[in-house]
Amino acid sequence: KAKSAGRNGWVFYSADMEEQIVQRREMEKSLREALKEDQFRLVYQPRYDMKAGRVVAVEALLRWHHPLHGLLMPDQFIPLAEETGIIISLSDWVLNTACRDAQHELQGMSVSVNISAVEFQTSGLVGRVRDALRASKLDPARLELEVTENATLWNPQSSLEIMNGLKALGVRLLIDDFGTGYSSLSYLRNFPFDGIKLDKSFVAGMPHSENANNIVENMIGLGKAFSLSITAEGVETPEQLEQLKMYQCDETQGYLISRPMPLEELKAQIEKR
Ligand code: C2E
Ligand code: MG
Ligand code: MG
Ligand code: MG
Repeated sequence: KAKSAGRNGWVFYSADMEEQIVQRREMEKSLREALKEDQFRLVYQPRYDMKAGRVVAVEALLRWHHPLHGLLMPDQFIPLAEETGIIISLSDWVLNTACRDAQHELQGMSVSVNISAVEFQTSGLVGRVRDALRASKLDPARLELEVTENATLWNPQSSLEIMNGLKALGVRLLIDDFGTGYSSLSYLRNFPFDGIKLDKSFVAGMPHSENANNIVENMIGLGKAFSLSITAEGVETPEQLEQLKMYQCDETQGYLISRPMPLEELKAQIEKR
């Protein structure tokens, strides 16, 4: 089948491409409906403080319970939500739900929320976070926002202003997936971050790869030189935990300590401890 494609004449489409476009439209439509139909849920994964020897914070992770496709993971729908702008209302739902849960169900713990790079291309982020804090009455010091390094690529100057605005609210800022983006020393110096989360790909090589060990040890040292708190992501084995303790990593997160789980399960686990 051929279709006209403007001045270049004819472009050949495959049925596959048409099908993909149709699928994408369907998905976009069901993504919009999902918010109204209350199909999203948050699961929480504990972050473990190595010195205190206990869970001090949890990360909110988004899940979509699709009526036809079942459980969908963020990688399966966040990119489309970002492309279509739906991410803004979706992220509002996440912020409000996480702040409310933290205020009413998770006393004494901080909660962190993942913020998409796309949200730094709009001016509304500071106001949206302020609204979620006000509505929930959560102490801003208990809210942390995780952003990846590429959040600042689009416009470093306006990203810096947004981050300063967020800091002025009293929330903490963490760099997510640290080491996988385009960060440099100036990045750590110029932006008002409170902590970094080392990407799980580095931890995965520990303790058998000498190279991975060195990189992690040095990244922890680098973070400390900038007075940042360091969380290691993706900790799956006791050996990795031991090693990270030796390198004086502040916090760990991963399947070894706990998988992400629904609020009720998390509360039951906390009570048991
Ligand atoms: P992330 O923020 O880096 O979150 C950590 C991911 O690693 C989560 O995947 C978590 O389930 C997984 N994980 C935790 N411990 C381990 C471990 O020991 N081993 C391994 N292999 N994986 C572990 P998940 O929940 O599928 O989320 C994937 C990504 O989707 C997140 O990466 C985050 O970037 C994004 N995301 C999740 N929730 C939201 C949200 O509410 N808003 C936005 N904008 N992005 C979100
Ligand atoms: Mg994260
Ligand atoms: Mg991430
Ligand atoms: Mg990460």
